[in-house]
Amino acid sequence: MDDCERGPWILWSHCGFGKFDPHTNALVEVACPSRFCAVWVRLVDGKLADHERTDGGPCPWIGVRVVDDRTDPSKPNELIYTEALEWVRDQ
Ligand SMILES: [Zn+2]
Repeated sequence: MDDCERGPWILWSHCGFGKFDPHTNALVEVACPSRFCAVWVRLVDGKLADHERTDGGPCPWIGVRVVDDRTDPSKPNELIYTEALEWVRDQ
């Protein structure tokens, strides 16, 4: 993983779950991709907001931009599960 030049970012599908604003259809919260978190994290300017890991301390994913890569925008207000969640949690 060497994303230093482009800045840290992940695809929304890597988070597995997301919450969407029913009016704007914008991504507002995601499930943190860290297996130590298991919490909903708000997005601030498209980036993961401050939160703590379940075992204490700040999450290393804070400040990482989440790129909205939804392929089915016709379901704006649902929790959508992707296989990526299992993949990420196993890392
Ligand atoms: Zn986290």
